[in-house]
Amino acid sequence: MAKRTANFYAGPSTLPLDVLKQVQKEFLDFKATGMSVIETSHRSKEFETVVNEAEQDLKDLLKIPANYSVVFMSGGASINFPLVPMNLLQEGKVAAYVNTGEWAKKALKEAKILGETAVVASSEDRNFCYIPDLAGMKIPANAAYLHITSNNTIEGTQYKKFPETGTVPLVADMSSDFLSYPFDMTKFGLVFAGAQKNVGPSGISVVIIRNDLLALAEKKNIPAFFKYQTHAKEHSLYNTPNSFGIYLIGLVFKSLKKRGGLGQVEKYNVEKAKILYDAIDSSPLFKGTADKKDRSLMNVTFVMAKKELEAEFLKEADKKELIGLKGHRSVGGFRASIYNAMTIENVVKLVKFMKDFEIRHK
Ligand code: PMP
Repeated sequence: MAKRTANFYAGPSTLPLDVLKQVQKEFLDFKATGMSVIETSHRSKEFETVVNEAEQDLKDLLKIPANYSVVFMSGGASINFPLVPMNLLQEGKVAAYVNTGEWAKKALKEAKILGETAVVASSEDRNFCYIPDLAGMKIPANAAYLHITSNNTIEGTQYKKFPETGTVPLVADMSSDFLSYPFDMTKFGLVFAGAQKNVGPSGISVVIIRNDLLALAEKKNIPAFFKYQTHAKEHSLYNTPNSFGIYLIGLVFKSLKKRGGLGQVEKYNVEKAKILYDAIDSSPLFKGTADKKDRSLMNVTFVMAKKELEAEFLKEADKKELIGLKGHRSVGGFRASIYNAMTIENVVKLVKFMKDFEIRHK
């Protein structure tokens, strides 16, 4: 069997082994066509089946109602930062944002170029180590939408409850926790996620959008490619899509179904994160950076009481094939990204190493 490193990178990141094996198995001869999936036309009946199944499997996983469309969008998550205001922000309306970290800031920056914006809540006062309480927030009456970042990849925080926004469409960047738990799509107007953490390769995003919001952009003077509607109408085949990406994402959806669906996946993720957080909470050396009530099940951020040992920890971790643990520069310390495909066994391996390191550096 091929060597498999314990890969804690934040994205691109570890993918399910059964999916990678299947890609390998059918790479030279896809569905007995005598071609690789990346060599076949996106108009072929085989590829059409790939797209249709991917769409349907996602609808099944999330129980998406019929008044929503699914789009596999070229470009990563970031393409959606301008596309959301381009499609949803109407004349005389304001784009509302909750500022919970670097990615929320980037989304807001793009919206500012395109129209009026408002920040309704922020956790910048404490370096984004928590999710602001949104119960009392004031969404402007003329808000076109409210944008949140469900999981803050860099800061290691995650919404445990989504805000009530009444008739204002809720938009979520779910890039780093998409399909790691079940959620009710009817609470959202639009959800997007870069694929490279939980569902596939980089450079492609999954977008789920309510059809009445799709229609909003119909009359707007924006290029066809930038309208979600264009892609939704053509089932992501308006132009030549990232066919390998859609194929791989489709396989991940099937793998999630095989695991018993998102409820099962969530259970596994809760158990997995608990092992790591328990180790951090009981340690005299390691310390979590996010407020306990808001910490992420996907990106576990922590630092060391003895800062001078951090470089040594990373060096030793590398040697033990525990890879990708360096924290983002804005938070420092460490970040263990433990997405859906990360195994409990690898988290246990990390925890054992942490304990061993701790004993040796008392
Ligand atoms: N949003 C979030 C929450 C992210 O974590 C990332 C990537 N780390 C992005 C957006 C940007 O994704 P991409 O590089 O695919 O544009």
